[in-house]
Amino acid sequence: MTERVFNFNPGPAMLPTEILEEAQKELLNYKGTGMSVMEISHRSKQFEEIIVGAETLLKELMDIPDNYRVLFIGMGATGQFDMIPMNYIVDGKAGNYVITGSFANKAYKEAVKVGETHVAASTKEINFARVANPDEIKMSDDPAYLHITTNNTIFGTQWKTYPETGDVPLIADMSSDILSKKTDVSKFALIYAGAQKNLGPAGAAVVIIREDMIEKSNQALPTMLKYDTYAKNNSLYNTPASFTIYMIRLMLEWVKSQGGLEVVQKRNEQKAALVYDAIDNSNGFYRGHAEPASRSLMNITFRLPSEDLEKEFIAEAAKVGLAGLKGHREVGGIRASIYNAMPVAGCEKLVEFMNDFRSKKA
Ligand code: PMP
Repeated sequence: MTERVFNFNPGPAMLPTEILEEAQKELLNYKGTGMSVMEISHRSKQFEEIIVGAETLLKELMDIPDNYRVLFIGMGATGQFDMIPMNYIVDGKAGNYVITGSFANKAYKEAVKVGETHVAASTKEINFARVANPDEIKMSDDPAYLHITTNNTIFGTQWKTYPETGDVPLIADMSSDILSKKTDVSKFALIYAGAQKNLGPAGAAVVIIREDMIEKSNQALPTMLKYDTYAKNNSLYNTPASFTIYMIRLMLEWVKSQGGLEVVQKRNEQKAALVYDAIDNSNGFYRGHAEPASRSLMNITFRLPSEDLEKEFIAEAAKVGLAGLKGHREVGGIRASIYNAMPVAGCEKLVEFMNDFRSKKA
Protein backbone atom coordinates (compact mmCIF):
# COMPACT_ATOMS: atom_id res chain seq x y z
CA MET A 1 0.00 0.00 0.00
CA THR A 2 1.40 3.39 -0.91
CA GLU A 3 -1.55 5.34 0.46
CA ARG A 4 -3.36 5.26 3.76
CA VAL A 5 -6.13 2.68 3.89
CA PHE A 6 -9.50 2.71 5.65
CA ASN A 7 -8.44 0.96 8.82
CA PHE A 8 -11.21 -1.01 10.57
CA ASN A 9 -8.95 -2.39 13.32
CA PRO A 10 -10.52 -2.62 16.81
CA GLY A 11 -7.62 -0.97 18.63
CA PRO A 12 -5.05 0.35 18.24
CA ALA A 13 -7.30 1.93 15.69
CA MET A 14 -7.44 4.48 12.92
CA LEU A 15 -6.43 8.02 13.89
CA PRO A 16 -7.39 11.13 11.92
CA THR A 17 -4.73 11.89 9.28
CA GLU A 18 -4.82 15.54 10.39
CA ILE A 19 -3.53 14.75 13.87
CA LEU A 20 -0.82 12.43 12.58
CA GLU A 21 0.30 15.23 10.30
CA GLU A 22 0.21 17.71 13.16
CA ALA A 23 2.35 15.38 15.28
CA GLN A 24 4.71 14.90 12.33
CA LYS A 25 5.01 18.64 11.84
CA GLU A 26 6.12 19.27 15.41
CA LEU A 27 7.94 15.98 15.95
CA LEU A 28 11.48 17.37 15.86
CA ASN A 29 10.90 20.72 17.47
CA TYR A 30 7.95 21.10 19.82
CA LYS A 31 6.88 24.73 20.03
CA GLY A 32 10.37 26.17 19.72
CA THR A 33 11.93 24.00 22.44
CA GLY A 34 14.33 22.47 19.92
CA MET A 35 13.23 19.09 21.26
CA SER A 36 10.59 16.55 20.42
CA VAL A 37 7.65 16.34 22.77
CA MET A 38 9.04 12.86 23.50
CA GLU A 39 12.25 14.45 24.77
CA ILE A 40 10.94 17.21 27.03
CA SER A 41 10.58 16.83 30.77
CA HIS A 42 7.20 15.75 32.07
CA ARG A 43 7.74 18.50 34.66
CA SER A 44 8.28 21.21 32.04
CA LYS A 45 5.75 23.99 31.56
CA GLN A 46 5.19 22.76 28.00
CA PHE A 47 4.13 19.33 29.21
CA GLU A 48 2.06 20.73 32.03
CA GLU A 49 0.16 22.72 29.44
CA ILE A 50 -0.43 19.50 27.45
CA ILE A 51 -1.71 17.41 30.35
CA VAL A 52 -3.82 20.16 31.91
CA GLY A 53 -5.11 21.00 28.43
CA ALA A 54 -6.12 17.37 27.86
CA GLU A 55 -8.05 17.24 31.13
CA THR A 56 -9.75 20.59 30.44
CA LEU A 57 -10.71 19.65 26.89
CA LEU A 58 -12.11 16.26 27.87
CA LYS A 59 -14.17 17.95 30.59
CA GLU A 60 -15.47 20.46 28.11
CA LEU A 61 -16.27 17.94 25.37
CA MET A 62 -17.96 15.41 27.67
CA ASP A 63 -19.57 18.06 29.85
CA ILE A 64 -17.97 16.50 32.93
CA PRO A 65 -19.23 18.05 36.19
CA ASP A 66 -16.79 20.00 38.39
CA ASN A 67 -16.64 17.32 41.08
CA TYR A 68 -14.82 14.90 38.77
CA ARG A 69 -11.16 14.59 37.83
CA VAL A 70 -9.56 13.18 34.71
CA LEU A 71 -6.55 10.96 35.41
CA PHE A 72 -4.01 9.36 33.09
CA ILE A 73 -2.86 5.99 34.36
CA GLY A 74 -0.57 3.36 32.81
CA MET A 75 -1.37 -0.35 32.35
CA GLY A 76 -4.24 0.26 29.92
CA ALA A 77 -7.85 -0.55 30.65
CA THR A 78 -6.79 -3.95 31.94
CA GLY A 79 -4.93 -2.26 34.78
CA GLN A 80 -8.26 -0.79 35.84
CA PHE A 81 -9.69 -4.31 36.11
CA ASP A 82 -7.28 -4.64 39.08
CA MET A 83 -7.31 -1.14 40.53
CA ILE A 84 -11.10 -0.96 40.82
CA PRO A 85 -11.59 -3.99 43.09
CA MET A 86 -8.40 -3.27 45.02
CA ASN A 87 -9.60 0.23 45.85
CA TYR A 88 -13.28 -0.41 46.44
CA ILE A 89 -13.93 -3.99 47.54
CA VAL A 90 -13.51 -3.30 51.24
CA ASP A 91 -15.50 -3.80 54.47
CA GLY A 92 -17.16 -7.02 53.31
CA LYS A 93 -18.83 -5.33 50.34
CA ALA A 94 -19.03 -7.12 47.00
CA GLY A 95 -17.91 -5.90 43.58
CA ASN A 96 -20.98 -6.40 41.35
CA TYR A 97 -20.45 -7.17 37.66
CA VAL A 98 -22.67 -7.30 34.62
CA ILE A 99 -21.05 -9.72 32.20
CA THR A 100 -21.82 -8.78 28.61
CA GLY A 101 -18.61 -9.86 26.89
CA SER A 102 -15.02 -11.03 27.22
CA PHE A 103 -13.62 -7.83 28.68
CA ALA A 104 -16.45 -7.61 31.21
CA ASN A 105 -15.64 -11.17 32.18
CA LYS A 106 -11.93 -10.40 32.48
CA ALA A 107 -12.75 -7.47 34.75
CA TYR A 108 -14.90 -9.77 36.89
CA LYS A 109 -12.23 -12.48 37.06
CA GLU A 110 -9.68 -9.98 38.37
CA ALA A 111 -12.10 -8.85 41.07
CA VAL A 112 -12.62 -12.47 42.14
CA LYS A 113 -8.90 -12.58 43.00
CA VAL A 114 -9.25 -9.51 45.18
CA GLY A 115 -12.34 -10.06 47.30
CA GLU A 116 -16.12 -10.54 47.44
CA THR A 117 -17.85 -10.44 44.08
CA HIS A 118 -21.28 -10.98 42.62
CA VAL A 119 -22.50 -11.50 39.06
CA ALA A 120 -25.48 -9.13 38.80
CA ALA A 121 -26.39 -10.30 35.28
CA SER A 122 -24.82 -12.13 32.35
CA THR A 123 -25.68 -12.67 28.71
CA LYS A 124 -23.08 -15.40 28.20
CA GLU A 125 -25.77 -18.00 27.41
CA ILE A 126 -26.57 -16.27 24.13
CA ASN A 127 -22.89 -15.69 23.29
CA PHE A 128 -23.23 -12.06 24.33
CA ALA A 129 -25.55 -11.15 21.46
CA ARG A 130 -27.06 -8.36 23.57
CA VAL A 131 -26.42 -6.36 26.73
CA ALA A 132 -28.46 -6.95 29.89
CA ASN A 133 -31.98 -5.57 30.37
CA PRO A 134 -32.45 -3.42 33.47
CA ASP A 135 -34.86 -5.93 35.03
CA GLU A 136 -32.26 -8.71 34.75
CA ILE A 137 -29.75 -6.89 36.95
CA LYS A 138 -29.85 -8.21 40.51
CA MET A 139 -27.30 -6.65 42.80
CA SER A 140 -26.01 -8.25 46.00
CA ASP A 141 -27.11 -7.03 49.45
CA ASP A 142 -24.14 -4.77 50.07
CA PRO A 143 -22.60 -3.81 46.72
CA ALA A 144 -19.30 -1.92 46.62
CA TYR A 145 -20.17 -0.86 43.06
CA LEU A 146 -21.84 -2.05 39.87
CA HIS A 147 -19.45 -2.51 36.93
CA ILE A 148 -20.64 -2.46 33.32
CA THR A 149 -18.88 -2.45 29.94
CA THR A 150 -20.73 0.15 27.89
CA ASN A 151 -19.52 -1.17 24.54
CA ASN A 152 -18.49 -4.76 23.97
CA THR A 153 -15.72 -4.48 21.41
CA ILE A 154 -15.57 -8.14 20.46
CA PHE A 155 -19.30 -8.85 20.22
CA GLY A 156 -20.43 -5.51 18.80
CA THR A 157 -23.03 -4.65 21.42
CA GLN A 158 -23.58 -1.39 23.27
CA TRP A 159 -25.73 -0.19 26.16
CA LYS A 160 -28.34 2.35 25.02
CA THR A 161 -29.53 3.29 28.51
CA TYR A 162 -27.56 2.78 31.68
CA PRO A 163 -28.80 1.03 34.84
CA GLU A 164 -30.09 3.18 37.70
CA THR A 165 -28.06 2.25 40.75
CA GLY A 166 -29.12 4.84 43.31
CA ASP A 167 -26.36 5.28 45.89
CA VAL A 168 -24.35 2.37 44.56
CA PRO A 169 -21.39 3.68 42.53
CA LEU A 170 -21.80 2.86 38.85
CA ILE A 171 -18.44 2.09 37.24
CA ALA A 172 -18.03 1.76 33.48
CA ASP A 173 -15.43 0.45 31.12
CA MET A 174 -15.96 2.79 28.14
CA SER A 175 -12.81 1.73 26.31
CA SER A 176 -14.51 1.34 22.98
CA ASP A 177 -17.16 4.06 23.05
CA ILE A 178 -15.84 6.92 25.12
CA LEU A 179 -16.18 10.27 23.33
CA SER A 180 -18.35 8.75 20.59
CA LYS A 181 -21.65 10.22 21.76
CA LYS A 182 -23.23 12.43 24.40
CA THR A 183 -23.05 10.73 27.80
CA ASP A 184 -24.45 11.82 31.15
CA VAL A 185 -21.25 11.50 33.17
CA SER A 186 -23.07 12.34 36.40
CA LYS A 187 -24.64 8.85 36.37
CA PHE A 188 -21.19 7.33 36.88
CA ALA A 189 -18.84 7.27 39.85
CA LEU A 190 -15.92 6.21 37.68
CA ILE A 191 -15.43 5.81 33.93
CA TYR A 192 -12.30 4.38 32.37
CA ALA A 193 -11.02 3.71 28.89
CA GLY A 194 -7.87 2.46 27.23
CA ALA A 195 -6.76 5.29 24.95
CA GLN A 196 -6.14 3.32 21.77
CA LYS A 197 -9.55 3.61 20.11
CA ASN A 198 -11.30 6.98 20.33
CA LEU A 199 -8.68 8.84 22.34
CA GLY A 200 -5.31 8.32 20.68
CA PRO A 201 -2.53 5.74 20.64
CA ALA A 202 -2.02 3.02 23.26
CA GLY A 203 -0.14 3.63 26.49
CA ALA A 204 -2.60 5.13 28.95
CA ALA A 205 -5.99 4.61 30.46
CA VAL A 206 -8.09 7.71 30.91
CA VAL A 207 -10.03 7.63 34.18
CA ILE A 208 -12.88 10.03 34.92
CA ILE A 209 -13.45 9.79 38.64
CA ARG A 210 -15.83 11.50 41.07
CA GLU A 211 -14.16 13.20 44.04
CA ASP A 212 -15.72 10.96 46.69
CA MET A 213 -14.24 7.95 44.89
CA ILE A 214 -10.78 9.54 45.09
CA GLU A 215 -11.29 10.01 48.83
CA LYS A 216 -12.39 6.39 49.16
CA SER A 217 -9.14 5.06 47.62
CA ASN A 218 -7.88 2.16 49.71
CA GLN A 219 -4.98 3.66 51.69
CA ALA A 220 -3.49 0.23 52.42
CA LEU A 221 -2.49 -0.15 48.78
CA PRO A 222 0.93 0.49 47.28
CA THR A 223 1.33 4.01 45.89
CA MET A 224 0.85 3.30 42.19
CA LEU A 225 -2.38 1.38 42.75
CA LYS A 226 -4.31 4.09 44.59
CA TYR A 227 -6.43 6.59 42.71
CA ASP A 228 -5.58 9.42 45.06
CA THR A 229 -1.90 9.20 44.12
CA TYR A 230 -2.85 10.18 40.56
CA ALA A 231 -5.37 12.81 41.63
CA LYS A 232 -3.05 14.54 44.12
CA ASN A 233 -0.19 14.67 41.64
CA ASN A 234 -2.07 15.58 38.45
CA SER A 235 -1.15 12.15 37.05
CA LEU A 236 2.52 13.17 37.41
CA TYR A 237 3.61 11.17 40.46
CA ASN A 238 5.97 9.34 38.12
CA THR A 239 6.78 9.78 34.42
CA PRO A 240 3.52 9.29 32.53
CA ALA A 241 3.06 8.12 28.93
CA SER A 242 3.86 11.62 27.77
CA PHE A 243 3.71 11.09 24.01
CA THR A 244 0.38 9.27 24.32
CA ILE A 245 -1.03 12.11 26.42
CA TYR A 246 0.20 14.61 23.83
CA MET A 247 -1.61 12.63 21.11
CA ILE A 248 -4.76 12.45 23.25
CA ARG A 249 -4.65 16.22 23.51
CA LEU A 250 -4.43 16.50 19.69
CA MET A 251 -7.29 14.04 19.33
CA LEU A 252 -9.48 16.04 21.72
CA GLU A 253 -8.73 19.23 19.79
CA TRP A 254 -9.72 17.39 16.63
CA VAL A 255 -13.06 16.31 18.12
CA LYS A 256 -13.67 19.91 19.14
CA SER A 257 -12.80 21.14 15.65
CA GLN A 258 -15.34 18.71 14.21
CA GLY A 259 -18.07 20.44 16.22
CA GLY A 260 -17.93 18.41 19.44
CA LEU A 261 -19.82 15.34 20.53
CA GLU A 262 -23.16 16.26 19.01
CA VAL A 263 -21.69 16.37 15.52
CA VAL A 264 -19.49 13.33 16.11
CA GLN A 265 -22.45 11.32 17.45
CA LYS A 266 -24.61 12.14 14.42
CA ARG A 267 -21.81 11.09 12.12
CA ASN A 268 -21.28 7.87 14.07
CA GLU A 269 -25.00 7.08 13.81
CA GLN A 270 -24.96 7.79 10.10
CA LYS A 271 -21.90 5.59 9.56
CA ALA A 272 -23.29 2.67 11.54
CA ALA A 273 -26.68 2.91 9.79
CA LEU A 274 -24.97 2.57 6.41
CA VAL A 275 -23.34 -0.71 7.38
CA TYR A 276 -26.30 -2.16 9.32
CA ASP A 277 -28.58 -1.36 6.37
CA ALA A 278 -26.24 -3.29 4.09
CA ILE A 279 -26.50 -6.27 6.47
CA ASP A 280 -30.29 -6.02 6.80
CA ASN A 281 -30.85 -5.65 3.06
CA SER A 282 -28.67 -8.57 2.07
CA ASN A 283 -31.38 -11.27 2.00
CA GLY A 284 -29.61 -13.10 4.79
CA PHE A 285 -26.20 -13.21 3.06
CA TYR A 286 -24.79 -11.10 5.89
CA ARG A 287 -26.01 -12.01 9.39
CA GLY A 288 -25.43 -9.56 12.22
CA HIS A 289 -24.24 -11.05 15.53
CA ALA A 290 -25.79 -8.42 17.83
CA GLU A 291 -29.52 -8.26 18.48
CA PRO A 292 -30.76 -5.05 16.82
CA ALA A 293 -31.64 -3.29 20.10
CA SER A 294 -28.06 -3.74 21.33
CA ARG A 295 -26.21 -2.92 18.13
CA SER A 296 -22.99 -1.01 18.65
CA LEU A 297 -22.21 2.20 16.79
CA MET A 298 -18.52 1.41 17.11
CA ASN A 299 -17.96 -2.28 16.31
CA ILE A 300 -20.17 -4.00 13.76
CA THR A 301 -20.00 -7.79 13.79
CA PHE A 302 -21.42 -10.09 11.13
CA ARG A 303 -21.09 -13.48 9.52
CA LEU A 304 -21.23 -14.73 5.95
CA PRO A 305 -22.70 -18.05 4.75
CA SER A 306 -19.38 -19.91 5.19
CA GLU A 307 -15.95 -19.48 6.74
CA ASP A 308 -14.38 -19.78 3.30
CA LEU A 309 -16.42 -16.83 2.08
CA GLU A 310 -15.43 -14.87 5.18
CA LYS A 311 -11.74 -15.47 4.45
CA GLU A 312 -12.25 -14.41 0.87
CA PHE A 313 -14.18 -11.31 1.96
CA ILE A 314 -11.34 -10.21 4.25
CA ALA A 315 -8.64 -10.85 1.63
CA GLU A 316 -10.54 -9.12 -1.19
CA ALA A 317 -11.42 -6.15 1.01
CA ALA A 318 -7.76 -5.68 1.96
CA LYS A 319 -6.84 -5.49 -1.73
CA VAL A 320 -9.08 -2.45 -2.19
CA GLY A 321 -7.82 -0.64 0.91
CA LEU A 322 -10.32 -1.86 3.52
CA ALA A 323 -8.07 -3.20 6.27
CA GLY A 324 -8.53 -4.87 9.65
CA LEU A 325 -11.94 -6.48 9.06
CA LYS A 326 -11.26 -9.90 10.57
CA GLY A 327 -13.62 -10.67 13.44
CA HIS A 328 -12.44 -11.86 16.84
CA ARG A 329 -12.31 -15.65 17.17
CA GLU A 330 -15.06 -15.63 19.83
CA VAL A 331 -17.57 -14.44 17.22
CA GLY A 332 -15.81 -15.28 13.97
CA GLY A 333 -16.67 -13.61 10.69
CA ILE A 334 -16.23 -9.91 10.18
CA ARG A 335 -15.87 -6.97 12.54
CA ALA A 336 -15.83 -3.43 11.24
CA SER A 337 -14.62 -1.05 13.94
CA ILE A 338 -15.72 2.42 13.01
CA TYR A 339 -14.51 4.74 15.75
CA ASN A 340 -14.62 8.53 15.53
CA ALA A 341 -11.69 8.74 13.13
CA MET A 342 -13.34 6.55 10.47
CA PRO A 343 -14.82 8.93 7.91
CA VAL A 344 -18.24 8.41 6.31
CA ALA A 345 -16.39 7.68 3.07
CA GLY A 346 -14.80 4.62 4.71
CA CYS A 347 -18.21 3.17 5.57
CA GLU A 348 -19.54 4.01 2.12
CA LYS A 349 -16.64 2.20 0.54
CA LEU A 350 -17.18 -0.80 2.83
CA VAL A 351 -20.89 -0.92 1.91
CA GLU A 352 -20.09 -0.71 -1.79
CA PHE A 353 -17.66 -3.59 -1.34
CA MET A 354 -20.22 -5.62 0.66
CA ASN A 355 -22.89 -5.19 -2.03
CA ASP A 356 -20.48 -6.00 -4.79
CA PHE A 357 -19.16 -9.10 -3.01
CA ARG A 358 -22.69 -10.33 -2.33
CA SER A 359 -23.80 -9.89 -5.92
CA LYS A 360 -20.85 -12.00 -7.06
CA LYS A 361 -21.10 -14.73 -4.42
CA ALA A 362 -24.72 -15.07 -3.33
N1 PMP B 1 -12.11 -3.18 27.75
C1 PMP B 1 -12.58 -3.11 26.50
C2 PMP B 1 -14.03 -2.88 26.27
C3 PMP B 1 -11.69 -3.26 25.42
O1 PMP B 1 -12.16 -3.20 24.16
C4 PMP B 1 -10.31 -3.48 25.68
C5 PMP B 1 -9.29 -3.61 24.58
N2 PMP B 1 -9.69 -3.92 23.35
C6 PMP B 1 -9.89 -3.56 26.99
C7 PMP B 1 -10.81 -3.38 28.00
C8 PMP B 1 -8.45 -3.82 27.34
O2 PMP B 1 -7.74 -2.65 27.09
P1 PMP B 1 -6.17 -2.54 27.26
O3 PMP B 1 -5.57 -3.31 26.14
O4 PMP B 1 -5.93 -1.05 27.18
O5 PMP B 1 -5.80 -3.08 28.58
